[in-house]
Amino acid sequence: MGFGPREEQKMKVVKFGGSSMADAGQYRKIREILMADPERRVVVVSAAGKRFSGDHKLTDLLYLCYAHIQYGVDCSGIFEMIASRYLDIRDELGLDLCLEPELAELKKRIDAKNISQEELVSRGEYFSAKLMAAYLGFQFVDAADWVKFNMDGTVNQEESYEALRHQALLGYGAVIPGFYGCMPDGTIHTFSRGGSDITGALAAAALDADVYENWTDVSGILMADPRIVDDPQAIPEVTYDELRELSYSGAQVLHEDSIFPVREKNIPVNIRNTNQPDAPGTMIRASFEMDQDPDRFITGITGKKDFSIISLSKRGMSNQVGVLRKVLTVLERHNISVDYVPNGIDNVSVVLPTHSIERDLYTIMAEIKKEAEPDTLDVHHHIAVVAAVGRKMAFRPGISGKIFAALGESGINIRMINQGPDELNIIFGVDNKDFKEAIRVLYNSFVTK
Ligand code: ASP
Repeated sequence: MGFGPREEQKMKVVKFGGSSMADAGQYRKIREILMADPERRVVVVSAAGKRFSGDHKLTDLLYLCYAHIQYGVDCSGIFEMIASRYLDIRDELGLDLCLEPELAELKKRIDAKNISQEELVSRGEYFSAKLMAAYLGFQFVDAADWVKFNMDGTVNQEESYEALRHQALLGYGAVIPGFYGCMPDGTIHTFSRGGSDITGALAAAALDADVYENWTDVSGILMADPRIVDDPQAIPEVTYDELRELSYSGAQVLHEDSIFPVREKNIPVNIRNTNQPDAPGTMIRASFEMDQDPDRFITGITGKKDFSIISLSKRGMSNQVGVLRKVLTVLERHNISVDYVPNGIDNVSVVLPTHSIERDLYTIMAEIKKEAEPDTLDVHHHIAVVAAVGRKMAFRPGISGKIFAALGESGINIRMINQGPDELNIIFGVDNKDFKEAIRVLYNSFVTK
């Protein structure tokens, strides 16, 4: 599978998640996907994921292995499971790749307690990439040679991009392990869980890819959580801003930090399904010129449970200066960040995750009482926040009317309403117990009718 030089061709960076790397059958699917499009030349891979429900992710086994070392318990059984997952893939694909010496060396270091947790868990991606490179006949490019972290754990983008460009991989296909890089002293450092998405985004940005394709096991970002709504539709197009709203409010798609590098370079991201390669998936861009679907006003519906609302009222508050500041100062002192601040003329409320105020609640309430001197002060817990997100809502009257009418008809009481100034979302609070129903009602009134 040779590729022509970069100058002649467009180039896509393609990242495959754990379930796409779970066994030899998945490797074969990936090969097909790459053969279908010669622009797919730089491949970033996760560690082997679950093959079936109840199976283990390789990364989890590696963390478990490290825990055994920590407590001085023999981890040979788990190590055997890890090694055989990779050796089985190799044998089933008939690859001529000798992994045994490296695995034996790794086991020796584990037994001697001579390996850090981060280096050990990074080996999942490392062996995945070694195998995939051998299978495709691509070059293996170690992430430790180009993903450079600063001492504070952030990525030094400039140095990393420069280092990847120097890897002389541009004319050929390359496979890169995701999830890790190296610290200034050369030791291995990992991203947080799901971090191979970030490696893929960094590679795409470094190489000025035309597209960053992120291959997973769903046919794109879904309009609502499939555990709540039956068989929700995939979102065909979403902007980076909408995606930020959707993931902030609860939808889990890409690792949050993976958007920044590609966004900076305006590289579109395409979420695709390894098990359904013909589905177009979801395209993420800064903006879309053509409106593919003029009747679709809501891009996605999401939400989270367990918020609290602190409300206070004070007669004449609209004419007084600094009441809101005093409330926010108290919260700042306790290092609490506020999610929403809906207000009326003589009242204001702050909405924040319950867990963030639980510990200091009584002190916080006492301080607000003393410093802002409200007439009434209350707190309500067990609130769920639901967000309807859509870039086209701003140009369309009647959307919120439709949302609230639909909820009202279903007997769902709305506890709070908020809209961001960019009109990208409408956010409302309901009781935790109404959370799922609120999402279903919205989905059904906007999507299926
Ligand atoms: N293997 C790592 C994890 O399970 C990173 C990744 O797959 O993105 O979190």
